[in-house]
Order: sequence, then structure tokens, then C-alpha cells
Amino acid sequence: MIFPVPRRARGVAARVAAAHSLHPPVAMAVTTLPPALAALCAALGELPGIGPRSAERIALFLAQAPPETGRRLAQAIVAARERVQVCRNCGALTETQPCGICADARRDPTCLCVVERPVDVLFLERAGSFRGRYHVLGGKLSPLSGVEPEDLRLAELEARLAREPVREVILALASDVEGDATCHYLAQRLGGRAVTLTRLAHGLPAGTALDLADEVTLHRALAGRQPLTP
Ligand SMILES: [Zn+2]
Repeated sequence: MIFPVPRRARGVAARVAAAHSLHPPVAMAVTTLPPALAALCAALGELPGIGPRSAERIALFLAQAPPETGRRLAQAIVAARERVQVCRNCGALTETQPCGICADARRDPTCLCVVERPVDVLFLERAGSFRGRYHVLGGKLSPLSGVEPEDLRLAELEARLAREPVREVILALASDVEGDATCHYLAQRLGGRAVTLTRLAHGLPAGTALDLADEVTLHRALAGRQPLTP
């Protein structure tokens, strides 16, 4: 059975149809990216700190830039991936084995700075105040994320302590729950050795007023206060 459509409803339907014929829906007006450009967007979107909008902006730039621009970028990515490796001794990023720091006889072999990630070595080197050597753990203990002691470069650290004249091990790990747990574990595991274990000081960041520091930072800054010498 066909129900009759009221006259008023027929008028509304006609107006809607007329409006659509003049102004098509927005979704119909959006064009899709060419497949190669979409693939480039997807690849860029996998990079840290690059969201979908940034990925699309970079992809569109590269697609319209001179061919050398894209070729240089592609070659730099391939070269970095092929040449950069992990130092077999300390775990830092390098193009040689061992890395420049491990091979540098002017570095203090008695002082070993333990860090979480290879990039931490770069940060400390940029500060320019440490003249010892490094050991990259490759992470920090995190039972919730499934990171156990055997997942870290701890056996390599113990092997170095056995063969190198290390007297002080500086634990330069993050000041968070996992960093604290890792330091505590290392203190227990390395406790019987003839090395001094130290940890980076916690306190106020340079140039920070007290009202900008959180309670934990203020607590640690107070606990780690230093005598003032004239
Ligand atoms: Zn090295």
C-alpha cells in the first residue's frame, strides 16, 4: 500500500532536493590524496611528534618541492639507518666500533655514567661537564610494561666493571618511579663491588622560581641542599 504524501511535506522535500542540487554536500566536494601522497602521509605520521596535519603539510611540501629536496632527504634517511649503529662497549650511537668516547684515551676510565637511552649521552655531552665514559642501559625497570632486569644491558655493565678500572658509577636515570626503582635495583646488584655509586642531584631547574616548582621537586631540593661556601 502506498501512503499519500501530504502537500506540505512534498514542498519541503522539493526544497531540500533543490538546495542539494545547488550546493552538494561537503563530503562530496573533498578530493582524496593521490595514493603515493597518501602513503607518504602515512609514513610521516609514524614519526614521533608528527600528527596527521603536520604529516600532510610535509608531504604536500615534498611533493611540490624541487626533486633534489626529496632525494636529499631520502638519501640522508637511508645513510643514517645504514651507518649509525650501537657501540658494542657502551651502547651509544656511533658510526665506528668502539665509539669515539670509548676510544678516547683522554676520557677518565675510572668514572662511568649510567644512562637510560643513547640520546641521553648526547644531552650530557652537550652540557660539556662530564669527562668520564658512559654505559647505556637501554631502558629502565618497569614491571607493568614488562621490562625486567634481563631486558637491560646489565650483564654488559657488570662485565665492564670487571675489566675496566671503574671507581665511581654515576646513575644518571630519570627522576620518576621507574628511574627510582632502577637505581634501587642497581644499588643492590652492584652493592658488593669496590665502586662508589652516586646519583644525579635532584633540585630546582636553573632559572626557576619556587612557586613554579611542584611539591616533589621542592622536597628533593630541600633534601639535597648543599653547604654554601663563601
Ligand atoms: Zn662506546
